[in-house]
Amino acid sequence: MDFALSERARDHLGRLQDFMDSHVYPAERVYADQRRDLRAEGREHHVPPVVEELKVEARRRGLWNLFLPGIEDPAHGLSVTDYASLAEVTGRSPLLAPEATNCAAPDTGNMEVLHLFGTPEQKARWLRPLLDGEIRSAFAMTEPDVASSDATNISTRIERDGDHYVLNGRKWWITGTADPRCKIMIVMGKTDPEGHPYRQQSMVLVPLDAPGVEIVRPLPVFGYQDQHGHCEITFTDVRVPMDNLVGTEGGGFAIAQARLGPGRIHHCMRAVGMAERALELMCRRALSRTAFGGPLAKQGVVRAQIAESRMAIEQARLLTLKTAWLIDEHGVQAARSEVAAIKVIAPRIALDVVDRAIQLHGGAGVSDDTPLAEMWAGLRTLRLADGPDEVHVRSVARAELGRYPGA
Ligand SMILES: Cc1cc2nc3c(=O)[nH]c(=O)nc-3n(C[C@H](O)[C@H](O)[C@H](O)COP(=O)(O)OP(=O)(O)OC[C@H]3O[C@@H](n4cnc5c(N)ncnc54)[C@H](O)[C@@H]3O)c2cc1C
Repeated sequence: MDFALSERARDHLGRLQDFMDSHVYPAERVYADQRRDLRAEGREHHVPPVVEELKVEARRRGLWNLFLPGIEDPAHGLSVTDYASLAEVTGRSPLLAPEATNCAAPDTGNMEVLHLFGTPEQKARWLRPLLDGEIRSAFAMTEPDVASSDATNISTRIERDGDHYVLNGRKWWITGTADPRCKIMIVMGKTDPEGHPYRQQSMVLVPLDAPGVEIVRPLPVFGYQDQHGHCEITFTDVRVPMDNLVGTEGGGFAIAQARLGPGRIHHCMRAVGMAERALELMCRRALSRTAFGGPLAKQGVVRAQIAESRMAIEQARLLTLKTAWLIDEHGVQAARSEVAAIKVIAPRIALDVVDRAIQLHGGAGVSDDTPLAEMWAGLRTLRLADGPDEVHVRSVARAELGRYPGA
């Protein structure tokens, strides 16, 4: 296995780190202040202006769409292994850097779907403005009424009527849909409820302003509202042209698998970056805070926590890189078990590290004076989003047992 960065990736990494130091970290406080002001004006889900300023600067520096190997310029695409190191750096400031570089979920997964399965018209209408960072998008699979970790349960109906599809159903936790910049959803539903369990589903593009789409409410996470919003949405006789079908009828399940593979590993890369930032904050705090006659860093228990964190991060990074390398060399299918494993391991380890960092900061750790509390909340939800841990553990067990007769 070769995890060495390509020359192009090394160049990007240096410029990205420079951008983080000069623009992103200083913008974190500005972002928090602007969000507070927008909230006071009743515009909770409007983007703070500093994000759009960062996007302009990142693009000017060539730090744009790094996640999608070769789409803009096939000769110079970055490998998934290359991207792992870049995404780790953006994960250090998770609310700003991924979006500033147009590498934020769920747009990345949606752009990949449109890139792989979209028609030329769909690409021109939706992929182009997404690649240019002009609009945002959402992916609508989860439903309140069924256990959605098993995607075969999805019950939203997509029925043909002449040259249109008609959608009826209810979704929730649809990230991004409260942000006024979000213009398009990829919606998964059933076109053939009587078909084979993995051939019943299809995906269609639904503009947010289509008649019959109603945003019921943005759901809070641990009591807080995300800037982009995770919304509950109803679809009542929503009509979209048949041209809005993504891929083929009955191909929705396969597209969901294709979409969630790389998307999951991107989350893991960023989780490693969050853990690194938390460990850095932990070390700085341990060296600068004095209790019981000396810096906290002198306490054996604190040193053990620091060491445990370093050891765990190294493990998570190595498995992330191995998974990225497998995808590069053999494709997403060959890396399925590793993608499932790292989707469990990276958030779990990062959550542990952030938790230790919070503890070492005392009361400051749970305030918003550091990024730790926000990181903890984001990582905790990552143990559910894109499939809960148990479902991925199930996949790892299936692959392991599958090596033996009688499995
Ligand atoms: C912050 C956030 C953002 C999200 N964004 C999106 C989005 O943009 N689009 C979207 O479509 N969805 C999104 N989701 C939804 C997320 O993907 C689902 O919550 C997740 O897939 C689980 O589905 P569910 O909530 O229906 O849980 P259920 O399927 O009801 O499962 C509940 C629990 O049951 C247990 N369980 C399930 N299966 C097994 C098993 N095989 N073995 C043992 N235990 C099991 C697990 O503990 C699981 O957490 C988001 C969720 C969150 C929290």
